[in-house]
Amino acid sequence: MSLHAVRPWRHIERRKSRQIHVGPVAVGGDAPISVQTMTNTVTTDIRATIEQVQRAAEAGADIVRISIPDEASSKALKEIVAESPVPIVADIHFHYRRGIEAAEAGAACLRINPGNIGDEKRVREVIKAARDHGCSMRIGVNAGSLEKHLLDKYGEPCPEAMVESALDHIRILEDNDFFEFKISVKASDVFLAAAAYQGIAEATDAPIHLGITEAGGFVSGTIKSAVGLGNLLWSGIGDTIRVSLSADPVEEVKVGYEILKSLGLRHRGVNIISCPSCARQGFDVISTVAELEKRLEHIKTPMSLSIIGCVVNGPGEALMTDVGFTGGGAGHGMVYLAGKQDHRIANEEMIERIVAEVEKKAAEIDAARAASEAEAAE
Ligand code: SF4
Repeated sequence: MSLHAVRPWRHIERRKSRQIHVGPVAVGGDAPISVQTMTNTVTTDIRATIEQVQRAAEAGADIVRISIPDEASSKALKEIVAESPVPIVADIHFHYRRGIEAAEAGAACLRINPGNIGDEKRVREVIKAARDHGCSMRIGVNAGSLEKHLLDKYGEPCPEAMVESALDHIRILEDNDFFEFKISVKASDVFLAAAAYQGIAEATDAPIHLGITEAGGFVSGTIKSAVGLGNLLWSGIGDTIRVSLSADPVEEVKVGYEILKSLGLRHRGVNIISCPSCARQGFDVISTVAELEKRLEHIKTPMSLSIIGCVVNGPGEALMTDVGFTGGGAGHGMVYLAGKQDHRIANEEMIERIVAEVEKKAAEIDAARAASEAEAAE
């Protein structure tokens, strides 16, 4: 019996999109929803940019985007791509030369709006370069930069104008027999973005890149993204996401994963379930969780850990987690493994012991997965 049959209220029916590729990463169809971020270094500072791409990839980014504002950036891109562990999307906007250069430099995808390039000959040249170099494209419509004729027609940025803009760009690619593209219709207003995404999701089967643009700083941007992207993902829309924060790209990746994790759409690393703590806590929950988050960052295996201050909620939460700890009395607490009480430990040794238990469990899960994959391959 599938999990969905057991708990149908947890099931998300994903919109059926066609599948494209960004380098080796499949986007759309039944591919996992990928997590993206964007560098904020000066692209020509090659070392700094590579270092940022690597940190983002280490945090779990599947794809990283880099701005290519000038020819020097196109040149830098070649070196960056060579050292990147993940495929790179070159953000071109509208300059057709940069598009061709980026394709030649090894970009896996061009973020470019064909309708803004200008004459058809140039559009065809960019499409040819993309095709010759195995690049896909992302059409990126943004409420803040809609074409003037659409603003005149609709009076202001609205979902209909954004969908019309997207369809105009799509038509140009399709008229040139180019179908390896995904599409975004971003806005900083969650209502506008959600309505535009719902509109474009109905109008095309292209894979969809989700984002709430210019979402803000870490806290407000995270919340806006969780509300906007969460609503769309919950309704099945979205094949790849980028959380835009005025913060370190690594934070964008972490928040992106947390949104997907909360909806059961993707799992990576340790999902820590912890209580807010109160006077009943048997140990300092807040500092313990902060320390464990740091100490467990290296674990990539999807698994769960409950850290609960006392027996009010501890045993219940531990029932549903791989490893659990519940605070007790007299400076001790109970460790739970696979939902069952296992052994008591002193609070002082808790961090080391929990880290060891999580590492052991992660190794077991990895070994079991490798064995089942080997069996399936036979
Ligand atoms: S689980 Fe216990 S310590 Fe945590 S918030 Fe609830 S009552 Fe307080």
